[in-house]
Amino acid sequence: MDGSPTFDGGYSPASLDGAAALISPDEAQEMDFCRSPRASFGSRRSSQSPTVLDDEDDAPRCVVLDFDGTLSTPKYVERLQNWAVCDKEVLISSLTDEEIWANGGGVQRVELMRQMLETLQRQGCALYIVSLGFTGAIRRHLDVWGLSSYFPESRVFGQDSPLLIERDYVKAALIENLMARRGWAFGDVLFVDDSQKNISECDRRRTCATYTVAESGLTERDMGAVCAALRGS
Ligand SMILES: [Mg+2]
Repeated sequence: MDGSPTFDGGYSPASLDGAAALISPDEAQEMDFCRSPRASFGSRRSSQSPTVLDDEDDAPRCVVLDFDGTLSTPKYVERLQNWAVCDKEVLISSLTDEEIWANGGGVQRVELMRQMLETLQRQGCALYIVSLGFTGAIRRHLDVWGLSSYFPESRVFGQDSPLLIERDYVKAALIENLMARRGWAFGDVLFVDDSQKNISECDRRRTCATYTVAESGLTERDMGAVCAALRGS
């Protein structure tokens, strides 16, 4: 990223995580380590809570994607003197379509993402976004990129989503809820994120399989690895 700090390194994770205004980093850390043990898995939907997702399609597998720095490659916007990340709702709404494309790494990278999503969907994966950015800011990107159809409204959870708020913004806890409701086991779900904190929490709780995005945004190689991770499982 042209000498700019990486998102995991040069930024306060709390800022990028988007929950900074709501909880302090100390509180967030404390909450992370005070979670109750993971929900028990293995029971199928019929025995679960009557609350079901409204778009259930019996997908046997699931990929949960982070947004900022995973699907997007956040750019510094000179005229706004700020980074285009989705926890800055007003900033994102003021971006031009061109700037939104830049935030996706350009037309070519967005096309690679479309191919990845298409492949995953064909493999029988339900696709979710779980992000600490605002849902509307994420949707703006998906709309401009032409990727909205892969992510129905009920499958994008931002920091303003009740399901994430109720779980104190702990992504692993939200994923566990989805898994319990859909009857997915550990190996049925892959969580993809560029935040080591989010990945580590998922690993610590043994929630599901994880994939860490090393750079700012999935590379072509990452996308291949994500597609391969659940293939044939
Ligand atoms: Mg991220």
